[in-house]
Amino acid sequence: MTSKRVCVVGGGITGLTAAYQLSKADDVAVTLLEASGQLGGKVQTTPFAGIQLDEGADAFLARVPWAIELAEELGLKDDLVSPAKRSAYIFSYGELRAIPQPMVLGIPLDLETLAASGIVSEAGVARASEDLDRTENQMVGDESIGSVVRRRLGDEILERMVDPLIGGINAGDADNLSLDASASQLGHAARQGPSFIEELRYVRTRNKPDPDAPVFYAHPDGMGRFVHELASRLGDSVVLNASISGIERADDGSWRLLSSAGIFDAEAVIFATPAHVTAPLLADHSRVAGSELASIEFASVGLLSLAFDRADIDHPLDGSGFLVPKPEQRAITACSWSSEKWAHLGETGKALFRVSVGHIGSSSYVDMSDDALLDHVTTDLQRLMGLDTQPTPTDVRISRWIDAFPQYTPGHLARVATIDDTLVDDAPGVFVAGASYRGIGIPACIDQAHQAARSAQRFLT
Ligand SMILES: Cc1cc2nc3c(=O)[nH]c(=O)nc-3n(C[C@H](O)[C@H](O)[C@H](O)COP(=O)(O)OP(=O)(O)OC[C@H]3O[C@@H](n4cnc5c(N)ncnc54)[C@H](O)[C@@H]3O)c2cc1C
Repeated sequence: MTSKRVCVVGGGITGLTAAYQLSKADDVAVTLLEASGQLGGKVQTTPFAGIQLDEGADAFLARVPWAIELAEELGLKDDLVSPAKRSAYIFSYGELRAIPQPMVLGIPLDLETLAASGIVSEAGVARASEDLDRTENQMVGDESIGSVVRRRLGDEILERMVDPLIGGINAGDADNLSLDASASQLGHAARQGPSFIEELRYVRTRNKPDPDAPVFYAHPDGMGRFVHELASRLGDSVVLNASISGIERADDGSWRLLSSAGIFDAEAVIFATPAHVTAPLLADHSRVAGSELASIEFASVGLLSLAFDRADIDHPLDGSGFLVPKPEQRAITACSWSSEKWAHLGETGKALFRVSVGHIGSSSYVDMSDDALLDHVTTDLQRLMGLDTQPTPTDVRISRWIDAFPQYTPGHLARVATIDDTLVDDAPGVFVAGASYRGIGIPACIDQAHQAARSAQRFLT
């Protein structure tokens, strides 16, 4: 049997999973082409303060199956761990305040616990309660998370609860993030009934979530363990330092990829690269797909790994960390108390923090020198956590992730459907998958990888 050739471009979790999936087919010869000298993309586990620590993604959602299934297939499932501490804080009106429960993506389901938290003002609680009296559902098409939440629950819930959570995950601005693409759970609820709170309460009662069920999983060796396992299964199908600079169509309909490591021919190609990389490569073949891909914006963030002597942190660290709403105007957008959140990271004896800075429209902190950024961050830690002195870390690692977070603006899913549909006609056999399209989390990337691999296989038969 003659094997059909498939090239997968980009060795992040999406490209790795797609290539692995295709490698299992007898009639496919797969090649994974990665521009840099290492695999993993935004999944990078490197040494820090005597342990292996993630510089990018460090955990994944447990509520959806795709990453757990991959872990099982790679023999990693039994090792997965979930957070030791689940409660978290939001810094609001001058102090860290426990996030009121129950809550769904920042929407509080109990207004009494919301009022007791102090995260929003009394007026903010009263405004949120208007949601319970709503009789009309004005949802039509996709809207921004901000426009729906501001309308139904008011500005404070959006700015001090929902944006820190959802905006934080996306390094985005909830006023410009698609409800359907970035918070589909809220999108469903918003369409079902006039009251967000009532609908989310109803869904909760119907689904009866197990309060002890893990929300996130991580691997004690770091998320890089997934990369390592996938890479070892792909063996010499992987070509590193192969930056794709062009793609041409041959007379027989096959594709020719031009790269810094030579030329690669294939009957089908999966681009698992960020949309801003893929756009110029495909623009010559599909004007529409090229311009839709180019229209997806990206945000940059900085992620600081900090280790402190515990004696220098006079705070109980009684939770998984805290979020900082944009109106507070601080450098820090989020801080995980990693050594408390994950039991295996507590074993160093140090207090380990994972601090995020930067979001769409605000890269000033990301662009700063290391020294200036560290000074802003430790000043913030002192103020936000109420520490006696500005803490001095024993170990510092600053990871800058430039143009790393795709922004799913309203209409994003329709845009992605247009890209997929247009490529069928304009570039048959070429597929796109990954964080730029249908979910930025690791599980969503794995799911997209499987779908792209299936699409490529279907195309080849
Ligand atoms: C700081 C940070 C923290 C995060 N935390 C979490 C988390 O805790 N949980 C979670 O679920 N998600 C998290 N995410 C999101 C998640 O990590 C990413 O969305 C996901 O890893 C993206 O995978 P990908 O394969 O689609 O893309 P990428 O990881 O971006 O991989 C794309 C690959 O393509 C390569 N490439 C680029 N150009 C070319 C070219 N011309 N030719 C060949 N190759 C090329 C790149 O080098 C890269 O290896 C985080 C992201 C960041 C940045």
